[in-house]
Amino acid sequence: MKSVAEAYKDFPILQREHKGHRLVYLDSGATTQIPNDVINALETHLKQHNGNPHRGAHILAVEASEAYETARDAVQRFINAKTREEIVLTRNTTESLNLIAFSYGLHNLKKGDKIVITIAEHHANLVTWQRVAQTTGATLEYMYLDESGHLKDGEMDKIDSQTKIVSFAHVSNVLGMEFPVEELIKRAHAVGAIAILDGAQSAPHKKIDVQALDCDFFVFSGHKMCASQGIGVMYGKRHLLEDMPPFLLGGDMIEYVQEQSTTYNEVPYKFEAGTPNAHGAVTLKAAIEYLEQYGMDAINAYEKELVSYVLPKLLAIPHVHVLGSEDSSEKHGVIAFMIDDVHPHDVATILDSYGVCIRSGHHCAQPLGAYYNVPASSRLSMYIYTRKEDLDIFLEAVKQVRPTMG
Ligand code: PLP
Repeated sequence: MKSVAEAYKDFPILQREHKGHRLVYLDSGATTQIPNDVINALETHLKQHNGNPHRGAHILAVEASEAYETARDAVQRFINAKTREEIVLTRNTTESLNLIAFSYGLHNLKKGDKIVITIAEHHANLVTWQRVAQTTGATLEYMYLDESGHLKDGEMDKIDSQTKIVSFAHVSNVLGMEFPVEELIKRAHAVGAIAILDGAQSAPHKKIDVQALDCDFFVFSGHKMCASQGIGVMYGKRHLLEDMPPFLLGGDMIEYVQEQSTTYNEVPYKFEAGTPNAHGAVTLKAAIEYLEQYGMDAINAYEKELVSYVLPKLLAIPHVHVLGSEDSSEKHGVIAFMIDDVHPHDVATILDSYGVCIRSGHHCAQPLGAYYNVPASSRLSMYIYTRKEDLDIFLEAVKQVRPTMG
């Protein structure tokens, strides 16, 4: 196994400078950087194998199909799905959640049913359910958190006999924390509901085994795990996928088309209408193989070490507060923080002047911000290429924020 501590060398963008400083990239929760292996895989594909997958008998169509389908195999292995047919390639987590909401939600819910999510959900896992509730007459109910980001006592009891869908982030993109995943999935199944896991912030960082988790759907984005933007994954248990109508209609998702009616292709193709993002799929496969060289457990352990390095130091800076737990062991590589009397956008702008890239704003989780009365915050998020030296530069820059504001 290669050592994770050396991984930063694989990322050419980290060589660049910004405003006279070495670039320190701490916005991996938004999107990750791309290693040479992935860039090279895409270049080879574009130079040698570019064609339209599943269309045509010529060599390039065949090779493009092969590249696309072997990406599906790589994803199946990566999350340990039982069959490759359970892997639907989409644009991103958002599209995957929309697919489930429209194809499963709209067809299985009715007035009186309940959808239960947490107050910490990304808008992709929230606005979607608002639409399903508004359209079907179902109710959207939230499980609320305490100050330290844990589900309050009794909130899980909202998963009751009326509940048909329980959907939540495996790791929150604001709190950086995991909810009690196993318990939530068990509770969902005990009342006959399905459990959907938003893995956007977990799949890139830890070993995922969808069979062991026993979730019904698991979704994530390639661009948050070293692949290019525009390729994502929707895993679904096969029997659910078989019963769901297609989401998008057009080429490739059909079996036979007549003037007034159509029969659909089998899963997963039923859900992949139109020319797929084969280029993205090539990068996703290369990214999975890249991460597997290091091992997901080693990546997770490395990130945990980074969090325990930076979090106490950040909390020790006067006027700095973090959202959710202050216990390093409970946080994955995402830390949202506030500095007294300084707007998060100013924090991000000042850090940028030191070459440090962080995110600021509501992080696509406005209801969580409203609930905590913290409409915006700053967020650092780490990945395989983050170094302790980067975190030192970040911490020094944070110390300059209030003096800079005057
Ligand atoms: N869910 C979570 C927890 C996220 O962090 C994100 C992106 O930040 C998304 C969903 C949406 O991902 P995408 O924009 O790739 O669709």
